Amino acid sequence: MSCPRIEVDLSKIRRNTHTLVKRLGPRGIGVTGVTKAVCGHPAIAQAMLDGGAAGLADARVRNVQRLRSAGMTGPITLIRTPMLSQADQVVQSCEESYNTELSVISALAAAAIRNRSVHGIVLMVEMGDLRDGILPENLEGIAQQVMQMSGVALKGIGANFACLSGLAPTALQMSTFCDLANEIEGVCGPFLKVVSGGNSANLPWALGERATGRVNDLRLGEAILLGVEPVSGDQICGMHTDAFTLVAEVIETDARPPPFPIALIDPTPERLRIVTTSAASARMILAMGHQDTDIPGLSMPVGSTLIGATSDHLVIGTPRTLPTVGSEMRFQMNYNALMRAMAAPDIEVKLLGDPRTRPSRRTQGKVDHLALV
Ligand SMILES: *Cc1c(COP(=O)(O)O)cnc(C)c1O
Repeated sequence: MSCPRIEVDLSKIRRNTHTLVKRLGPRGIGVTGVTKAVCGHPAIAQAMLDGGAAGLADARVRNVQRLRSAGMTGPITLIRTPMLSQADQVVQSCEESYNTELSVISALAAAAIRNRSVHGIVLMVEMGDLRDGILPENLEGIAQQVMQMSGVALKGIGANFACLSGLAPTALQMSTFCDLANEIEGVCGPFLKVVSGGNSANLPWALGERATGRVNDLRLGEAILLGVEPVSGDQICGMHTDAFTLVAEVIETDARPPPFPIALIDPTPERLRIVTTSAASARMILAMGHQDTDIPGLSMPVGSTLIGATSDHLVIGTPRTLPTVGSEMRFQMNYNALMRAMAAPDIEVKLLGDPRTRPSRRTQGKVDHLALV
């Protein structure tokens, strides 16, 4: 089996999605599955849909095109405001996009007219994350201008939290956001189909005591994929945190202590680990490095310590017996590690737990190949 590889348990992704769909449904909130961390991997997207996600969303047109090429025909929303230079591709591949700039919306309208379609516009409102978004005081004016354009249709509003600021939304921010939905409808008339309250960082709010108001959608990536709430990093009760496993191969074992302190090689604080001489006395090197993943985002197997990494080598200390050269080590990943590893050209993605790729007697042995999408 090829190394490094990511093993993906699709049944855990399905169940994580289903758990959130079941908990949010009674609160009037649907789940949009966000596929950007897995580069729009079609089988993972399908697992989200099988688990009950109402639709899919991604930040990059290329990922959406990958989903379309794999035959996904359901609604896909672009959740990063489109590049002006990609207006045509956006209207051809996405039903809707999140927008903050009138010049981009005009280009989408022109592209949609050329494409003989109508493109849905969700206006992203800045509610305190200080990343993208229209300031609340400008929202009404922009919404009115969108209403007057042909080629585009105003579908709703969205907010985003905790991405740049790292701060979870407060109940006050969320009720202010809901008020904006009512105001826009008061001025523009139509019923807003989408009132999308945010991402995985909204879950404590959405599943908390207070009413969730007009919010009828959350765009969830990290919570579905990793089973954690991003602000605290805590496991969400009842969710799987091990749907993804990164597997790397040992290429050298060494019982001697390292000749130089590793700190000289890589002084970046987050990559530094203090390793006692005894722990470092048995080291191994794995064929994986910064080019493959975000090394500080890996959790080390119990008893092992990260000594350091270079572009292509991962050096790990272990107080226990060293594994043999050629054996494999398994790692859990945080969001950054997952996102980088899924995009790395040298890492194979191996799918497990997919009912449609279960080996039959005749295809057994070939199934690895068939499971690769
Ligand atoms: C990435 C992203 C999401 C999903 O965030 P998670 O924390 O992975 O749930 C939702 N909305 C927008 C606009 C995003 O960029």
